[in-house]
Amino acid sequence: MSSYISCSIKQYFPFPRVKIIAQSVTPNAALARIDIKPDSRFTPVCHACGEKTPRVHATARRAVRDLNFATAEVWLVFTYRKVKCSNCGCICIEYLGFVEPYAHVTNRLARYIHDLCKVMSIKEVAKLLNLDWKVVKRIDKRFLEEEFGGTDYQDLKILAVDEISRGPHHDYLTVVLDYPTGRIVWIGEGRKMSTLEAFFESMPEENRNKIEAVVMDMWDPFISAVKKWCSNAKIVFDLFHVVQAFNKVINNVRNQEYRKATEEEKKIIKGSKYLLLKNKINLRQEEKPHLKELLELNQSLFTVYLLKDALKRIWKYKYTRCAERALENWCALAQESRIPSVIQFAKRLERYREGILNHCRYSIHTGKLEGVNNKLKVIKRNAYGFLDTKYFILKAKQAFPGIRIN
Ligand SMILES: [Zn+2]
Repeated sequence: MSSYISCSIKQYFPFPRVKIIAQSVTPNAALARIDIKPDSRFTPVCHACGEKTPRVHATARRAVRDLNFATAEVWLVFTYRKVKCSNCGCICIEYLGFVEPYAHVTNRLARYIHDLCKVMSIKEVAKLLNLDWKVVKRIDKRFLEEEFGGTDYQDLKILAVDEISRGPHHDYLTVVLDYPTGRIVWIGEGRKMSTLEAFFESMPEENRNKIEAVVMDMWDPFISAVKKWCSNAKIVFDLFHVVQAFNKVINNVRNQEYRKATEEEKKIIKGSKYLLLKNKINLRQEEKPHLKELLELNQSLFTVYLLKDALKRIWKYKYTRCAERALENWCALAQESRIPSVIQFAKRLERYREGILNHCRYSIHTGKLEGVNNKLKVIKRNAYGFLDTKYFILKAKQAFPGIRIN
């Protein structure tokens, strides 16, 4: 068992170079005040250069928040010295290990706020600690910048590039993921060729040459950027994005069929959007009869539903020849459907054929990309004060630090 020593309040405030001179608490124990002054046994240290400097230019007082003590919100009220440094010549606040110059809170409270922000929203942390949310955000952002502010280009071989929409105005962010580890490497504003080029441009050539494959949506600006900067890399179109694109076709067809339908038929088509998009395995028992009724009612919807399953099968083949044959068959079926948007989609697949067949060499798990996409949406939704894009980017990088694989 650990040994106990009798203690004074000082043990809870183990701050070097200062002395506690008074302590007080309100009768309801909601607020505690600890008065501190510099310990005269220590020569002040310059905050700028870290050297000892005896020349005190002025003294001043301030109050900062510290960690709560039982029920009390703790305020440290302290006298500090401004020094004129004999080493670097600057006039600055002396170095104190427990608080940064001009900070509202002690270093240990700042660290605690940052830790809480990993699991709670800014708003919740601000409420819990009775602080302004802007202070909470600023503190969290400072820690995040230290940890995730730079771009780490090490050990990148297979990248996944994705985009997320930022809001109703269709402005986008481009996300670059280290696919094997799941680490978010970089996020840039926009989804143009120049957006992704900015990433490759700042990447050392040696690292760029090691990129084997880039997984992405069938999106020409990204394709052009990869071809320009990583000519050795294979472009791979993953199933997640292709199914997402085909889901839009399904929605189109459904809307068209709805417009043509009789009042009776409309009742069946109404509310069927997710029935058609959902994986069969995820259908709830009570949804099955509705889907059956819908598919029996409408030939076009039946066709697109079958094509969706057939589309997914193309990605199951490990041999390029088999995948190629499946793709050809799919496009032939699409032609036969006589549905314009389906035929157009088949043309698109033919155009991106090479990248589709590359999946045989680089098998990409749809769930992983979908998972990142969904989690980023959640981070965005919880985004109190995330109108600050830089902060959102840092939070996203923190949420996907990557799992080291050996
Ligand atoms: Zn100095």
